Amino acid sequence: MMGTKRDYYEILGVSRDASLEEIKKAYRKLALQYHPDRVPPEKKKEAEEKFKEISEAYAVLSDSNKRKLYDTYGHAGIDSRYTTEDIFRGADFSWIFRDLGEFGFGESIFEDIFSDLGFDIFGTKRRRKRVLKGEDIHFKLTIELEEAAKGVEKILTFNRYERCSHCKGSGVQPGTSKSVCPLCKGKGTISSGFGFITFSETCPRCKGEGEVITKPCPRCRGLGKERVSKRLKVSIPAGVDNGSAIRLRGEGHFGEGGYGDLYLHIQVKEHPIFQREGNNIRCKVKVPMVKACLGADIEVPTLNGKVVMRIPPGTQPHTIFRLRSKGFPDVRSKRVGDQLVEVEVEIPKSLSSRERALLLEFGKLRKEL
Ligand SMILES: [Zn+2]
Ligand SMILES: [Zn+2]
Repeated sequence: MMGTKRDYYEILGVSRDASLEEIKKAYRKLALQYHPDRVPPEKKKEAEEKFKEISEAYAVLSDSNKRKLYDTYGHAGIDSRYTTEDIFRGADFSWIFRDLGEFGFGESIFEDIFSDLGFDIFGTKRRRKRVLKGEDIHFKLTIELEEAAKGVEKILTFNRYERCSHCKGSGVQPGTSKSVCPLCKGKGTISSGFGFITFSETCPRCKGEGEVITKPCPRCRGLGKERVSKRLKVSIPAGVDNGSAIRLRGEGHFGEGGYGDLYLHIQVKEHPIFQREGNNIRCKVKVPMVKACLGADIEVPTLNGKVVMRIPPGTQPHTIFRLRSKGFPDVRSKRVGDQLVEVEVEIPKSLSSRERALLLEFGKLRKEL
């Protein structure tokens, strides 16, 4: 950064012989004052600049090597030796995240500001834990075609994880609390390395939380959740199709971020008579040759019982008749499809001698024989 830089001691408002504790205290006070979450929106940009400035002053003055260079040579001593990134690297900011956390500030603002500077100083920062919703449950439900057409209520029984009723999901024995992780001392990360080159990784003991459970809840053994057998009444809407999924929000497993969802995968059984085609339904009916010839009233099965359908004289094999609104309701619009009835003309397989004689005469009359 070019231009005249303000004196670091002046920025933090401390004397030149201030102790590390005094420097920390001053930084904490200013960090609260200029925290971008605390200022009106129009002042936000300004506050961010201020925040960077005090953070840089703190990064230098809290590091004894950098402070010595600064005391001897001023800004030139720092700028000739370190890049902005180097200035921040190695500085301990982890305590301030915890301190500000007490005031309800998230860490994201820090990430925003420092990534603005073009780097990530958060190798040493307590990693933000990802709070995940519980897992979804997938449930396969087989229903009859008639149930799919009319809608049906079903009782599902399944096991799922629910919030532990004893510890209310915290995982700790009620009346006790989590304690600082002994391995990372609450930082959430373990660092190693020399000088400015440090490697840090998520603490394996506390998984980055910085805290561990010392007295786990006896009911859930620290998991915060327990397996429960659940009965759930669900309404399957009329018109639901084979292969469709119904999502029941919040009926899945419990997780720290809330309950997952339950997906009901609908399988509709094959039907001996009906086949579904979109919202229409198809079936075949057998019609004796003579009835097809002369026309007749025939009985046709539908989803709502038998109906009588009139076929005209001279009905040809495989003619399709349409019965209006005897199909499936559309799941959304509720518009009802039709039933398509295909005529299968039955030819007698065996004839008595009298029947045979009559057919022969019939054939001669029509000059077909
Ligand atoms: Zn528990
Ligand atoms: Zn740890």
